[in-house]
Amino acid sequence: MRAARQPGFEGGPGASRRLLVVGMARSGLAAAGLGLAQGWQVRCTDRRPDAARVPGTEATYGEHRLDEFLGADCVVVSPGVPASMPELVAAMAAGVPVVGELGFASAYLDCPILAVSGTNGKSTTTHLLAQLCERAGWRTFEGGNIGRPLSEAVGRPLDVAVVEVSSYQMELPGRFRPRAAAILNLTPDHLERHGTMENYGAHKCRMFARMGPDDAAIVPAGDARLRRLADELPGRRLLLGGAPGVELVGDRLVLRGVHDPGEVSLAGFALAGRHNRENLAAAVLLAVSAGLWRADLQVAGLGGLPHRMEVVHTSAAGVVFINDSKATNVESALAAFEGLPGAFVALVGGKGKAGAHYDALAGPLRRARAVLCFGEEGPLIHAALRRNEVACELVPTLAAALPHAAALAHPGDAVLLSPACASFDEFRDFEHRGAVFAQLARGLG
Ligand code: ADP
Repeated sequence: MRAARQPGFEGGPGASRRLLVVGMARSGLAAAGLGLAQGWQVRCTDRRPDAARVPGTEATYGEHRLDEFLGADCVVVSPGVPASMPELVAAMAAGVPVVGELGFASAYLDCPILAVSGTNGKSTTTHLLAQLCERAGWRTFEGGNIGRPLSEAVGRPLDVAVVEVSSYQMELPGRFRPRAAAILNLTPDHLERHGTMENYGAHKCRMFARMGPDDAAIVPAGDARLRRLADELPGRRLLLGGAPGVELVGDRLVLRGVHDPGEVSLAGFALAGRHNRENLAAAVLLAVSAGLWRADLQVAGLGGLPHRMEVVHTSAAGVVFINDSKATNVESALAAFEGLPGAFVALVGGKGKAGAHYDALAGPLRRARAVLCFGEEGPLIHAALRRNEVACELVPTLAAALPHAAALAHPGDAVLLSPACASFDEFRDFEHRGAVFAQLARGLG
């Protein structure tokens, strides 16, 4: 399971070389710590004057200074900072290596990396894969875009690092080279930053750019664009929903053309919805591609994550409240509504995203007992559903929606918050929205 140590960046790290870390949130703080541990002379910079400080580093806070970018031997960038920032563009033009936190950390990591990307399902699949690796006895790091930054994995005794990768993190990939990487799906999201679907896909595919012929580049069988992009890059192309790769057939996963072909039973895998079985299929294909044997895979009882189809309350009347606040786009909400077997009351709305079309929700929502549209985007969703002859009601806020939903639901129904929108009109983030939903649901008794 040991990978060849990945080379550093041009010039390589070393004592008294200058590392500039840009953006001092979680990833930046971890990268600064790693830089210090590797002997770099570290300077941190952030536009916020009150950003967190790292002992042992120099700091330029409240502004960015171009001379510091141009004078660095390497610039490490947090995922929240766009690669188009003028100081970064100038540094790159001047030949300074500019790399994202993930690429920086991966250069120091001794163990293989398994990477998960895509529009929806990244965190769930990362978590499933990490559990599979742990259960098989591999010393496993789980992190990346969610949870702990990859910089925190460096120096630990590990057999594998399972990382969630956002498209932002692939803007400056450095020498990031996963042993296996999957793009689960690609639908319009984050187009405000990437412009076109072609660009968005190309960003995601950068995970494959430095692979060798034995590394696995995994894409959905049904996405012609991603198949083409993956074919143009090194790495062995494997398919989700095809061969060589993995297919979901009834209650089994069928692996073909991989190092341990055959079937994996889904007995005991309890996460709701077809999308979660697909996420598990991706996790299994990644694990097997990385050398795990099917016999070591234990799928029964694998756990999910909060705010993704999470049952948060069952009322005295027998109504089940499900928090899927993480469904911040149309496709993820669609997966939730399509995957729910029984009757339900749907709660949709929030802050709309550029380019979102809600007509697609009409299909599964026709089956709903009731649909309540709330928040800033509520009227637009309401209009789209009405246009498609789906009965629905408009309510101002999530707080107003809940008692109404509870009154409409019959015993045994679900009330499902799967909003298809971001949360920032009413809430700090999707976690805050999910927590408020859970609290309001429990308050209904
Ligand atoms: P990400 O990290 O990509 O945002 P999550 O695992 O956090 O993905 O799930 C985000 C939302 O998308 C959740 O609401 C979940 O129910 C839904 N979802 C999960 N997997 C998929 C999938 N494969 N396809 C579509 N939607 C999904």
